[in-house]
Amino acid sequence: MTSETKIAVVTGASSGIGAATARQLATAGYSVILGARRTDRIEALAAELGGAAHVLDVADTASVEAFCATVPDAIHVLVNNAGGAIGLEPLAQARDDDWLQMYQTNVMGLMRVTRALLPKLHAGKGHIVNITSIAGRETYPNGAGYCAVKHAARAVTETLRLELNGTPVRVTDIAPGMVETEFSEVRFFGDKERAAKVYDGLTPLTADDVADVVVFAVTRPWHVNLDEIVLKPVAQARATVAVRGVGL
Ligand code: NAP
Repeated sequence: MTSETKIAVVTGASSGIGAATARQLATAGYSVILGARRTDRIEALAAELGGAAHVLDVADTASVEAFCATVPDAIHVLVNNAGGAIGLEPLAQARDDDWLQMYQTNVMGLMRVTRALLPKLHAGKGHIVNITSIAGRETYPNGAGYCAVKHAARAVTETLRLELNGTPVRVTDIAPGMVETEFSEVRFFGDKERAAKVYDGLTPLTADDVADVVVFAVTRPWHVNLDEIVLKPVAQARATVAVRGVGL
């Protein structure tokens, strides 16, 4: 790494969109710093990419502070990706623990990591990329908890852009539709069969499709801020409207 090398921090880099983003940022020349709870995975990925990996639980303030202390004083990209959905039930059957976990990761985690790294982002004239979701723009039955946290993440992102106006720090909201990752397996508590059905009969986005958009956003000229990017599979028109079995 030279003094010219740009530094990117990726949260939730142990699988899916985070891992793919780390790979593509490394390919684009960034030195990557990876965070997640499954350290075996991020350590292997960091070794492959020539980056660094540190344990990170975004639901825990002390863990976030310890992780951010390992990060150099000036960074160029922060990808707030850690998060996901837990459960898919009507509100009448909502479980407190599931909702709390979703708030802890998707909202509080995003706030904690961003708060801790803001001085370093200012120092590096950095770029904050928040991975929200189309669930932050629409709602669907049984998805109140996840839609609520992603709507919140979107609101936080917009607010941050207002607060940072007048500084060189850029803020981008990337909102994917259906992406085949471990997302559905986590949402359905490890039920692989149920998770696979989500992607039955259509071609979902891949983690690499989203990573490609992250790299595009952060490599625009410094005066260009891509505020919001929504991407979905061709087969999907809304969260709950997707054609299956027609070759798309
Ligand atoms: P994934 O494969 O399940 O990846 C989720 C990542 O988040 C993992 O690396 C996980 O790492 C990390 N994570 C979860 N809780 C964490 C915590 N407390 N502290 C630190 N890291 C944590 O799912 P994905 O699809 O790539 O999801 C990435 C992001 O994209 C999420 O914010 C998700 O809501 C969003 N998204 C996904 C889709 C989709 O359809 N897949 C669509 C729109 C938006 P550890 O478990 O190792 O900590």
